[in-house]
Amino acid sequence: MLEFTRQVAGVYHRKIGDVLVTGLSDGYVDMGYTIFRNIPEEETKAILARDHRISPPRISVNAFALRMNGRTYLIDCGSADIMGPTCGRLPANLAATGIDPASVDGVLLTHVHPDHSNGLTDVATGARLFPNAEVIVHENEINHWFNDELMAKAAERPRRRYFEAGRTQLKPYMAADRVRTFRKGEVLPGVTAIPIAGHTPGHTAYVIASGGQTLIVWGDTVHVPEIQVARPEVTMEFDSDPQAAASARQMVFDMVVSDDMLIGGMHLHFPGFGHMRREAGRYSLVAEQWAFEI
Ligand SMILES: [Zn+2]
Repeated sequence: MLEFTRQVAGVYHRKIGDVLVTGLSDGYVDMGYTIFRNIPEEETKAILARDHRISPPRISVNAFALRMNGRTYLIDCGSADIMGPTCGRLPANLAATGIDPASVDGVLLTHVHPDHSNGLTDVATGARLFPNAEVIVHENEINHWFNDELMAKAAERPRRRYFEAGRTQLKPYMAADRVRTFRKGEVLPGVTAIPIAGHTPGHTAYVIASGGQTLIVWGDTVHVPEIQVARPEVTMEFDSDPQAAASARQMVFDMVVSDDMLIGGMHLHFPGFGHMRREAGRYSLVAEQWAFEI
């Protein structure tokens, strides 16, 4: 009789030079076909069927931990309870990898959206869940989500889930003077921010370089990899600026292909590492082989 209905832990370690990078699953969310723009529904269905994927489309949610120079950082921090019962698993997976939230020195955000930043603060108490961490985020994210005029213009759901939830998550860190903003460039030793605005105004990829090895954590360059790798022009209903999001995706795809970079993706299926290639003008994603030894 099958006793397990869940995998044991969504934790996967990988070395990039001297940096221990850990993929951490926050879970997944199954969305309807209406999330896509720029593609007929039958085509998304055909791509998912071809690739033996779950229908309706499943969005996996990952964060990454970096342990380097005796310090611990997270890139994004999970969704807590805002995305429903299939998400919010990051705290358990963090515990499984032996990281005490109080030991986290910094949380780098790829952007402020509930599946990336809602793990910062306990909404019931306003307590910082990473009490000793600074939050490191692109200045455009703060400027955008804290703009009252834009918030007033937003439809009810994005206003609640993006503007209000984002503010609730960030305010306790701001009050404690624990938010550091950047525009681009090196944000930590060996970690460089690359702005890829479009999905949100301050959407950022982070390049981690150590010992001659490189990893790009590309945030939400894709949400449903099967669809947006095959069809990079497909945008999402929750892109702030869909056209800019599509251009940024094309720029990142070209960069990772020409530099043959290892990718870490927030919405690649766990453990979220892989490479891309381009053949006859079409992209494909090759998941990295499971490493038995770190
Ligand atoms: Zn996302």
